[in-house]
Amino acid sequence: MDLNKLSRALIPDGDLIAPEEYEKIYPERNTEKGACVTRLAPSPTGFIHLGNLYSALADERAAHTTGGIFYLRIEDTDEKRKVDGAVESVIRSLNYFGLKFDEGAEINSPLNNYGPYYQRRRAKIYRSFAKKLIAQGLAYPCFCSAEELDAVREKQTQNKETTGYYGAYAKCRTLTESEIYENLKNNKPFVIRLKSQGNIENKFTFNDAIKGDITVTENDKDVVILKSDGIPTYHFAHAIDDHFMRTTLVIRGEEWLSSLPVHLELHKALGFKPPRYAHTCSLMKMDGDTKRKLSKRKDPELSLDYYRKAGYYPLAVVKYLMTVLNSNFEEWQLKNPEGDYRDFKFKIEKMGKSGALFDLEKLCDVSKTEISRLTPEACYDFLKEWVDEFGAESDKAHFENKEYILKILNLIMGVGGKKRRKDIERAEQGVKLMDYFFDDTFNVKDSYAYDKNTVNAVLEGFASVYNPADDNSVWFAKLKQVAAQVGFAAETSDYKAAPEKYAGSVSDAAEILRIAVTGMKNSPDLCTIMKILGKERCMKRLAEGKAK
Ligand code: GLU
Repeated sequence: MDLNKLSRALIPDGDLIAPEEYEKIYPERNTEKGACVTRLAPSPTGFIHLGNLYSALADERAAHTTGGIFYLRIEDTDEKRKVDGAVESVIRSLNYFGLKFDEGAEINSPLNNYGPYYQRRRAKIYRSFAKKLIAQGLAYPCFCSAEELDAVREKQTQNKETTGYYGAYAKCRTLTESEIYENLKNNKPFVIRLKSQGNIENKFTFNDAIKGDITVTENDKDVVILKSDGIPTYHFAHAIDDHFMRTTLVIRGEEWLSSLPVHLELHKALGFKPPRYAHTCSLMKMDGDTKRKLSKRKDPELSLDYYRKAGYYPLAVVKYLMTVLNSNFEEWQLKNPEGDYRDFKFKIEKMGKSGALFDLEKLCDVSKTEISRLTPEACYDFLKEWVDEFGAESDKAHFENKEYILKILNLIMGVGGKKRRKDIERAEQGVKLMDYFFDDTFNVKDSYAYDKNTVNAVLEGFASVYNPADDNSVWFAKLKQVAAQVGFAAETSDYKAAPEKYAGSVSDAAEILRIAVTGMKNSPDLCTIMKILGKERCMKRLAEGKAK
């Protein structure tokens, strides 16, 4: 059979560029030895999830800790799954978490020399190489209809055989020249398949950057490389794009591990040196006693929007993911509490080989710690950004008064104290925490443990002596005085020595006051809260807080 002629009949020359030319168009990159070129290659479905961020962080770190390049390629071969604005959303989401691409789709960069970065715009390249494979006898047209393929699959399932297009099942592999031209004459639609040279009997060992040595079986399937509309499959596009975009390390989900023999065979057929592969394990969570994969349907925390809406501190999400990526990151962070996570020596080889556990509670802890480290001004900016996007109208109004919020933040963050307080774990909860500082959102959550007369005596007594100019010790001395007047022990030690002699102690009097002023039994320092609220508001609360 004249294969050159066949290749031209199947894929007309048209405006195709010779395959060899592409080696010149996309030359080796000018990166230092050992530098990793990595990529994030999402489909533009509009759903960017924690797994993508996890993988992107590994890509970004692998590139940027070695002086390499991290780029964005859009795998849009499946037109049906495309969502408008999805690419911008990927970039925006990753930027939110502080990850930046060096080049790629929609990235304004002088480095963009390996594009187009949308697969649909690379059709010419794929066609040129498919044509070459046909001419070399390494690919062929397949005219099987969907029904025929279904029938093959059914038969294989019945016979308990591996499903797929291979061996004797690969009917079109043995079509004669005249059969092929006859089909073409009749305009029968066709796909292009790889003519696999592999043998299922042969095993070989392959070294994965994460999983180490893995023994796999050679591919023997004649996988589709170009679909009937001329658009490549993932397999073919991956081999060509990662070669010509000069990717050195392909980090991708372990669900691709089973296709690895196909990819290695494709690289060989195309005459390319394969990149290094790193197959990441899936993110898991504990569900009761069992560990399971995070699921789009069951777990809202899989969506990256969840973290923005709940207002986790973005750097905390990244730092927590660093711990999941490299378990020694936590130790490094303890030794370098102020250290930038980018200074940690990330190692792809240290990533977990199986199920990475993602624990939302741990993330909360990291988020608390990160927020507690901020200056009140930086914390204000962080909360304000959240309020602008997700806050209630009341929150928006409150945040207009920056000076007032800063006073609150100084208190609830424990600025000036021995140790910072970790009351704010994320923006949504932190903003709520401030509700009692404003009349329109103040509400009484806890109830008094004393009868009406006692409560009112404490509130009235304190109202009559309160002076916002008092410092903490004067404030407390006055509270003791009021406590004694209503039959409470002024000193806790007195109360402890003879509880039967008193109605309660000064701390019980403080609780009454606290509930009236903040609506809660627990709060940061009450004297400071009252100073922030101002005399007028305090007097109103003491009056309105009286038991009915
Ligand atoms: N488009 C593929 C996916 O979203 C990319 C896999 C890869 O990184 O090679 O799963």
